[in-house]
Amino acid sequence: MAEASSLTSTIDRHFLECVICSDTFNDPRALPCMHPFCCECLERWAKSCSDDNSIVSCPLCKKIYRIPEEEGIKGFPVHFLVTNLQDTVYRAKQEKSSADYCENHEGKKREYFCENCGCAACSDCCALDPSHRGHSFIRLKQASERLSSSLENIARRVGNIEDKYTTAIQQTQQVKQNLDQDTDTKIQAIDEARNEHMQQVDNLVRAYKHNAYSKKEQNVKTIGTD
Ligand SMILES: [Zn+2]
Ligand SMILES: [Zn+2]
Ligand SMILES: [Zn+2]
Ligand SMILES: [Zn+2]
Repeated sequence: MAEASSLTSTIDRHFLECVICSDTFNDPRALPCMHPFCCECLERWAKSCSDDNSIVSCPLCKKIYRIPEEEGIKGFPVHFLVTNLQDTVYRAKQEKSSADYCENHEGKKREYFCENCGCAACSDCCALDPSHRGHSFIRLKQASERLSSSLENIARRVGNIEDKYTTAIQQTQQVKQNLDQDTDTKIQAIDEARNEHMQQVDNLVRAYKHNAYSKKEQNVKTIGTD
């Protein structure tokens, strides 16, 4: 129903308003360009277009047309597209307003809201209907205000949850970053330790080799002096 009513008001605003008087079309006439105007509005407009009332320019697209000689502006055809649309919108509005009335109690508007049943009700529903006995009622307007403020609350709470979520993500990222830094430091330490050990091993190997050579030299000398 909300969709239909917003649709009809959109149609109303965009297609059923005369640009000359900014009101709903009254006896809409179509110029050959198919732009619609109230018959009276177009008659007034035509007087400002030429002294002898022979031509009219379209207020929208500026095209110039000859006014039918005998009938004048009334010689332009009725804009049936607009009148059909007017009928459709009128009928849709009728249907919507009938939805505001209670289907059980004729001529009674549904102005209350039963908090137990969660439905709209008329004053007779509240006072007489046994199915609502002992139920609590508030004004329909109040109920819709309450609903919209509770929707706002929900939106706010969702916002808070999002904030918390973002904080949690940020914290997780920090922990990961720390961990990465930690790992880097550890790897660096391992590398350093390895280098140190390798240095020591190299030194040791060098010392052994040195030892071995000098022993060999000594032996050679010993043999040589024999
Ligand atoms: Zn008009
Ligand atoms: Zn036009
Ligand atoms: Zn009722
Ligand atoms: Zn009820």
